[in-house]
Amino acid sequence: MRVTILGSGSEGNAALLESRTTSVLVDAGLSHRRLVQRFESIGREAPRNVAAVIVTHSHSDHAMHASTYSTRLRCPVLASEATMPSIRLRPAAHAQTFKTGKRFVLGDITVHSLPIPHDVPQIALRFETKASSVGLVTDLGHAPKGLAAFVAECETLLLESNHDPDMLAQGPYPAMLKRRVGGSHGHLSNGQASDLLAGLRTTPKRVVLMHLSETNNTPRLARSSAEAALGHRGTELLLAQQRKPLELGPMLEPQMQLRL
Ligand SMILES: [Zn+2]
Ligand SMILES: [Zn+2]
Repeated sequence: MRVTILGSGSEGNAALLESRTTSVLVDAGLSHRRLVQRFESIGREAPRNVAAVIVTHSHSDHAMHASTYSTRLRCPVLASEATMPSIRLRPAAHAQTFKTGKRFVLGDITVHSLPIPHDVPQIALRFETKASSVGLVTDLGHAPKGLAAFVAECETLLLESNHDPDMLAQGPYPAMLKRRVGGSHGHLSNGQASDLLAGLRTTPKRVVLMHLSETNNTPRLARSSAEAALGHRGTELLLAQQRKPLELGPMLEPQMQLRL
């Protein structure tokens, strides 16, 4: 699968996953105009045949533009039964719900979901095709039991590494917001992300650190924490950005690697 992260962070999230036959957008936190601009900045047109826009949860940095995406891209908005009632959709938008934990199919992609702890209902997602699998895990206060197994076989893992606890504690946020972000239903810290990575049964081929706070984290801190957890296991480590797209090509399939 090809993955293009158009933006990642508290000012707006959106990513495009493309298999051989199917395109799926995940989250709608960037305006449609910005989405088009981000694609243009990497020499691409915005996708036309999107099977769906899946919204992970109702926070505006993920759900705000779901209606516009649905009408502009002529695709349904998919969200869990727990999340859909909290998303504001115009009547013209085509909404479909799924049960968290019950897999569904979009073209040749099978989508799995797992509830994760946040201050509104939230899910981790895993996208599988015959050739590859991608996990997306952001906006969670801690890694619940079952999450490591859920992403264990993912070739590419997109994982939140939101904040450095010391920077959060000493930073400018009001006390209430500090408690929320650092709490068990807030966001994953660099150390929590690293713990999850260190405990994975199989190391992903590629890890992308997501949803970095621009106030309470630095790319250097997030990267060095994840690097220490991954050791020298040959994992490619990348960082998603708030204002710039990140393109990930499909991983080489085993038989292709043999031929090289
Ligand atoms: Zn978010
Ligand atoms: Zn959130």
